[in-house]
Amino acid sequence: MIENEQLKGRYYKALLERDKQFDGIFFVAIKTTGIFCHATCRARKPKFENCVFYEKAEEALLAGYRPCKICQPLSFPHQLPEEVRLLVAAVEAKPEKRWREEDFKKLGIHSATARRKFKEVYDMTFVQYARARRMGLAFKNIEDGQTVIEQQLAMGYQSPSGFNDAFSHIMGNPAKKTTVKVLTASFITTPIGRMLALADEAYLYLLEFDNRRGLEREIERLRSRLNARIIHGSNTLLQQLEQELAAYFSGTFTGFTIPLHLSGSAFQRAVWDLLRKIPLGETLTYKDLALALGDVNKVRAVGNANGANQIAILIPCHRVIASDGSLGGYGGGTERKKYLLELEKKI
Ligand SMILES: [Zn+2]
Repeated sequence: MIENEQLKGRYYKALLERDKQFDGIFFVAIKTTGIFCHATCRARKPKFENCVFYEKAEEALLAGYRPCKICQPLSFPHQLPEEVRLLVAAVEAKPEKRWREEDFKKLGIHSATARRKFKEVYDMTFVQYARARRMGLAFKNIEDGQTVIEQQLAMGYQSPSGFNDAFSHIMGNPAKKTTVKVLTASFITTPIGRMLALADEAYLYLLEFDNRRGLEREIERLRSRLNARIIHGSNTLLQQLEQELAAYFSGTFTGFTIPLHLSGSAFQRAVWDLLRKIPLGETLTYKDLALALGDVNKVRAVGNANGANQIAILIPCHRVIASDGSLGGYGGGTERKKYLLELEKKI
């Protein structure tokens, strides 16, 4: 989401003037309609205060907006390969769907070619797109705190089952009687993107960037393991987390005090404990960690445990780098890893 007021003003002007130079530079989502467009959409222009500007279509999808039918912001540039057009249309017809190989065959397209072309056009993979759309629906629902039924009506679903599938699969079925635990989901805005936090009054269970790869599966696994239902809202722990994160990002960090709920294997917990001992502003390599655990051959296992961390920043998996000094991977993307490490050097 673009927060800079000056930039927002410029983009709004471009939107009013349908300035072609800005096509593909930004996307505008309209709060009142739940739709997002690109710069030259010929639909009636929204009021400035109802606009949210994004640099990437994926961000708008994750925020729960659907692509405008008039300007087709996902069909930019306009000369789209036929396979790609088919894929976008297929997702929009059934945004909650999870894609399998045979689905491509049913559409009569060659999966590998179509996927490659999709990536070329949108700079994101088809799977990322379909997932962002699906997650966006579920996020939107918990963000608004609406009941599933209300949301279905608003989405214009003929049969409630389609939407139910998307929502209950990811966030839990509210009707399930055996459910015992309730986790509260809250979105926290940071300078490097929106994060999703899941917590109850006692512990934080998950903190991840909302476009992290594999987030959907993470939530599902957590939810089924805890037999939990996820609702939107806030609680004292989440409010405290938000304050502590704000202090961290503003460089006035005094240390995180939030209790964490960790549910990995004994090995994973050992790795996460070590991560929490790496001081601010310092890094270790995967090999350092393996050695600290007493087995130099466990470098790969350490890497996996690092990647399985579900509580970004507070369990600082970003402080682990490759042995050759390069950044190594990061679930939230290496740009973010770099940002966090540089930020921590200054704290
Ligand atoms: Zn439009």
